[in-house]
Amino acid sequence: MTEASTNASSETVAGAPSGEAVSIRAVEPEGPLVDVMNGSARWEIPVLDHGFVALVDVMPRLIPEGKTADSAIVQAARVSYGEGTKKVNEDRGLVRYLLRHRHTTPFEMVEFKFHVAMPIFIARQWIRHRTANVNEYSARYSIVPDRFYRPSVDNIRKQSSTNRQGGEESIEVKTAEDFISLLEDSEKLYSRYLELTEKGVAREMARAALPVSLYTEWYWKCDLHNLFHFLSLRMDSHAQQEIRAYADAMYELIKPIVPVSAEAFEQYRLNGVFLTSLEVESLRSGKPLASDNKREQTEWEQKRARLGL
Ligand SMILES: Cc1cc2nc3c(=O)[nH]c(=O)nc-3n(C[C@H](O)[C@H](O)[C@H](O)COP(=O)(O)OP(=O)(O)OC[C@H]3O[C@@H](n4cnc5c(N)ncnc54)[C@H](O)[C@@H]3O)c2cc1C
Repeated sequence: MTEASTNASSETVAGAPSGEAVSIRAVEPEGPLVDVMNGSARWEIPVLDHGFVALVDVMPRLIPEGKTADSAIVQAARVSYGEGTKKVNEDRGLVRYLLRHRHTTPFEMVEFKFHVAMPIFIARQWIRHRTANVNEYSARYSIVPDRFYRPSVDNIRKQSSTNRQGGEESIEVKTAEDFISLLEDSEKLYSRYLELTEKGVAREMARAALPVSLYTEWYWKCDLHNLFHFLSLRMDSHAQQEIRAYADAMYELIKPIVPVSAEAFEQYRLNGVFLTSLEVESLRSGKPLASDNKREQTEWEQKRARLGL
């Protein structure tokens, strides 16, 4: 007799499509279970001036006492490895091995559901991550709340001269103030939006007049494998500062739930350095990188600096 069947209790339930009674076997857990969110309805972190990221649910929500949700990854891997697991039989070691070797599907067994409020221009970047399930607030069915992103003067970045992004250089205060005043002007469109919806313009049309600094909200559900992919792109220094703030907050929310995977993610992905074969050859031979591409040369310099070379 298996352990599971020892804990089983049977119940007969009528109502199968054939009309015949079916038997559902309810299996008791082997020991006490605890809630990974300690019974909370949500864990929330404020982001930007009016935004937030809230973790509202997790799968697995209940885990054996003394374990973390990493145990769902281990459990799934053990199914696929079967006897092979005996060689890598320590949970932490197994999770780290799976992440290092991109054995990804066990990480898809853990899921996170977030409730997020962010400016529309950030939502546009975020929605490109196609592996999540999303349900957004509808500006077609409802009047949009009056919330706009307005950065502080210190947060207005100067256009970089070396790439197409906002750079690290500070911008003249007067120019930053002018830009904030432009944002304020665009927010004034809101009262006209309200006025014209009250006069009968359909909400689905009227929203076209609102700026992309307006906040929207959505539920965003993603498994841990794809969330790590999202976080590795959006916590990166190349990602826009505003979306980085959201990614950092999401990471803080999931870290206590999957601490073993999070540690491995930081060590092997987030803070790891990937070397191309040209870079390996340059290291090995001590010769310059065999590429005349300027950007590739710069990237190699940055990696060398990280490696302390
Ligand atoms: C710094 C930065 C700058 C960017 N700049 C631009 C830009 O200028 N213009 C622009 O348009 N986008 C830009 N993007 C968006 C970027 O190109 C990706 O669309 C976005 O990061 C989502 O990545 P993804 O497709 O890997 O993620 P997801 O959609 O989450 O997909 C995860 C993985 O699943 C697989 N996958 C998912 N869907 C498919 C599919 N249909 N077919 C095949 N494989 C699939 C892929 O392996 C993918 O990597 C930028 C992103 C970053 C981080």
